[in-house]
Amino acid sequence: MYFRQAPGSHPAQYLGRLRMPRKKVIAGNWKMYKTPEQTVAFLHDFLPEVKGHTRDEIVIAPPYIDLYAAVQASEGSNVAIGAQDVCWREECALTGEISSGMLLSVGCTHVIIGHSERRQFFAETDDIVNLKLKAALEAGLVPIVCVGEVLEEREAGLTEDVLRRQCMRAFSTISAAKAAKMIVAYEPVWAIGTGKTATPQMASDAHVIVRAEAAKAFGQEFADNLRILYGGSVKPDNAKTLMAEQEIDGALVGGASLDPKSFAAIVKY
Ligand code: PEP
Repeated sequence: MYFRQAPGSHPAQYLGRLRMPRKKVIAGNWKMYKTPEQTVAFLHDFLPEVKGHTRDEIVIAPPYIDLYAAVQASEGSNVAIGAQDVCWREECALTGEISSGMLLSVGCTHVIIGHSERRQFFAETDDIVNLKLKAALEAGLVPIVCVGEVLEEREAGLTEDVLRRQCMRAFSTISAAKAAKMIVAYEPVWAIGTGKTATPQMASDAHVIVRAEAAKAFGQEFADNLRILYGGSVKPDNAKTLMAEQEIDGALVGGASLDPKSFAAIVKY
């Protein structure tokens, strides 16, 4: 089904151009929470809540040690399992790292790359994000690449510069064909785990910037089809308003994805 975007005043609207509707993705990032046993218990409660839900894609990213249990417990369901990080190297002597091939071997399909907590606390640079993105795409994983400004950058009026730089460097030397499966998540760092949410307009404006960078790197058609998720204190009570924005193609959810009822309520926004 094709639809024509209504002409409007927002720069996001590519006047008169046709594009496919973008299926939204609701992804949960569990961070360093839950054991394998707790993962199975979560899925036991969560899967019946979202059974038959096809409007949106659902992804859960538990810690590495839970991935196998999560894949087994969600087999045959509409929930995909992702990792929260990946190494850019294949099998080699790198203590503590996990490769794309290892993620695939346990049945993972998605991987979060460049989350702000990795950038802030584990010195992950734009160049490392680029290496990880290339490795994940090469392996056939669906990467969810996170970008977003910190509070000081927003207050200094640098949001656009930061997003452009992060996207440009993350997307560097990757072809549109290779990047086809990529998803981007705009996560303003000041909104992560703080209870502060970007307004739908703030998120939309940021998504327009990300989409424009994707158009520069990969072409307009690619950008028109790119799913850009919003992340930052998404909860059951604000999900519907955020998801109503034409520019917002889903959510990356931290805290509120840990409880089966709350995450199911977000999925069903
Ligand atoms: C996140 O970890 O990506 C996130 C958005 O967290 P929260 O929903 O808790 O703000």
